[in-house]
Amino acid sequence: LNETTKEIHVTSASRSLAEAAERIIPGGVNSATRSIGAPWAFASAHGATLTDLDGNRYTDYHAAFGAILLGHGDERVNSAITAAIQDLDLVGLGTTELEVRTAELVIDAIPSADMVISTMSGSEAVLQAIRLARGATNRPYVVKFQGCFHGSYDAIARNVISSPDLAWRRDPNSSGILDDALDHTLIAEFNDLASVEELFAAHPDEIAAVILEPVPHNVGALLPELAFLQGLRDLTTKHGSVLIFDEVITGFRHARGGYQEICGVIPDLTTFGKSMGNGYPVAGLAGAAEIMRNFTPTGGKVMLAGTFNGNSVSMAAAIATLTVLNDPEVDFYGHVYRLGDRMRDGLRRITNGHGIPAVITGIGSVFIAYFLDGEVRGYRDLLRNDDEAYATFHRRMIDKGSLMYPMSLKRNHISLAHTDADIDRTLEQADEVLGAMAR
Ligand code: PLP
Repeated sequence: LNETTKEIHVTSASRSLAEAAERIIPGGVNSATRSIGAPWAFASAHGATLTDLDGNRYTDYHAAFGAILLGHGDERVNSAITAAIQDLDLVGLGTTELEVRTAELVIDAIPSADMVISTMSGSEAVLQAIRLARGATNRPYVVKFQGCFHGSYDAIARNVISSPDLAWRRDPNSSGILDDALDHTLIAEFNDLASVEELFAAHPDEIAAVILEPVPHNVGALLPELAFLQGLRDLTTKHGSVLIFDEVITGFRHARGGYQEICGVIPDLTTFGKSMGNGYPVAGLAGAAEIMRNFTPTGGKVMLAGTFNGNSVSMAAAIATLTVLNDPEVDFYGHVYRLGDRMRDGLRRITNGHGIPAVITGIGSVFIAYFLDGEVRGYRDLLRNDDEAYATFHRRMIDKGSLMYPMSLKRNHISLAHTDADIDRTLEQADEVLGAMAR
């Protein structure tokens, strides 16, 4: 991050806390991608604004990797949590009204949800989904797509962004994972049904599940072709495999019913997370009753466990967030789709104006500028992205006061707390940055 010259977030207070962190927390961060190569510590987050320890303020489009939908510190969510914990923290027996209400809201919203479980993270939801699919089908293999990320669970821990020689191959994102776990995950190309058909042909009756982000936001925003999603539905049904939509990012964010509501393709299982608790830890797995009944509490053989699952803070956060999303007066979707279009149109105008080859894309609240010429259909096209230009643009936007994550292909998010004025200010900054980059 050397180019971030103004040292806005490398000033004294950030630096000394980050250095203290580095002495006692590996790398000074609790999740690897929080490190951007410069010391940075934060003091507060309100609405669409982050303030670092030195008092520098940023319009936040990172949004905690998309966990923030309503804006930071949303009063409705915070007061629901405060109220809930007056009566109950965690019981560890039976159930609570908060857990049942959360499940009802999810089932009401998500088309594929007959039954639902709550977990503490998206990774755990994915772990449960894959184990459930394997347990229900008694088959070993899982198919995933290059460019999709599904968390830290071994069976699915693959590099999202792989170099051309490693893309679509075994490319673990961590050491310490058994070869067996890697070998039983097969990698296909997004928007390319033939690549999935080949895997089914090579492993007949052995594929337990196909898992995908219906919009692969972990490489920005690859827009799915409807025929591809429908083809996956048909293929998995034909072969008796479980179709899993990982809607950890897309669920509730793009529509109440997730991306499955938009595309009309209904998976067997759906995972969700980030987008349902406005920053508080809550995630889950929903699906057809026939499959969900394979969990042990229903007499099945797939273990379901988690000390903190369904705790009151998480449930109250989810209930409050989903209630705001459901409120027609608030019109969350109208707001973020309108601002998203404003941002995408503005970035298109600016990049065209400066003659910078770029594909500006996204959906609703999510936007991204790929720095490449031509079309983007699949991961293969993203190999043409000019990573250096992408990172430079994001780093310089940070200097201007708009926080976009400076790692290549990372998407940006608009929340309910962003305003037209935020978007317009960011576009002015983008015009300056891209103008200078074009010279
Ligand atoms: N699935 C998707 C699509 C994600 O983007 C992520 C996290 O980035 C996960 C699963 C894992 O979620 P968590 O970080 O809550 O474990």
